Amino acid sequence: MVSYKDLGLVNTRAMFAAAVKGGYAIPAFNFNTMEQMQAIVQAAVETKSPVIMQVSKGARNYANATILRYMAQGAVEYAKELGCAHPEIVLHLDHGDSFELCKDCIDMGFSSVMIDGSALPYEDNIALTKKVVEYAHKYDVSVEAELGVLAGVEDEVASEVSHYTKPEEVIDFATRTGCDSLAISIGTSHGAYKFKPEQCTRDPKTGKLVPPPLAFDVLHEIEKKLPGFPIVLHGSSSVPQEEVDTINAFGGKLPDAVGIPEEQLREASKSAVCKINIDSDSRLAMTAAIRKYLAENPSHFDPRQYLKPARENMKKMYIHKIVDVLGSDGKLLQQ
Ligand SMILES: [Zn+2]
Repeated sequence: MVSYKDLGLVNTRAMFAAAVKGGYAIPAFNFNTMEQMQAIVQAAVETKSPVIMQVSKGARNYANATILRYMAQGAVEYAKELGCAHPEIVLHLDHGDSFELCKDCIDMGFSSVMIDGSALPYEDNIALTKKVVEYAHKYDVSVEAELGVLAGVEDEVASEVSHYTKPEEVIDFATRTGCDSLAISIGTSHGAYKFKPEQCTRDPKTGKLVPPPLAFDVLHEIEKKLPGFPIVLHGSSSVPQEEVDTINAFGGKLPDAVGIPEEQLREASKSAVCKINIDSDSRLAMTAAIRKYLAENPSHFDPRQYLKPARENMKKMYIHKIVDVLGSDGKLLQQ
């Protein structure tokens, strides 16, 4: 049993309380490579932002759970080395699908876990979430739960259709489970193809797809039911057109990729939404830089040569999200 506190990590409680009060959101970036980790830490340190580094089941399978945990521990030390005296880094399990997986992560030093019982019948979701909360809280680990179903694909999490969270259920769910934050469904979705072209309209000038707006009415209803309770948005990449264009210009094929417009995420950040998950944008930033570099330098084969611009491009994206979208820059509780 390793306590996250010994690794210099923090749970989400204080940072969420401050974010809800301050009208901003904490970035939750998925990672599974060293370059992503470095870019996340550099961006957080330079902007003086708290940050959630999250690991999905797929990332654990790809990189190995032990390695990822040591990388998060390394991230804390790296942040200090970069000049941040009191880094606020959360190591979070994204989409835990069983009690055993959550327990395993807690026992190896995670400071926060998500238990996603959203595909289960309501009462089963409550029972599973409650079980995880009871275990996690013994070790002061925070728990995110999910109510409502998102459409799209994220590693092994896939759903054909979305079901908005029912505001009338949130009080009962939060009270009976004791969860620390709640992921809701208001129209965001996983992946780089968040909407089918037929769900969108087309901008007459650019011909680009314009996605349907998020269900802010549902969000506001939930906020009324649970004032000040931390809300989480999954699947909130904006799928930047310039990255998609770069990928397509250098041999990629991402037709009609579409994400959540940043203005809407900016608006959501000002509400009780205090954690915004961004994964696809990092993948796109990395792939765009690598494709471009290799196309322009066909004789190069040292991975450092193309991973360096990839890391730079991800870092630029992370800083942009922190400063221009979520507003978490300068929000470390201890400067
Ligand atoms: Zn998710």
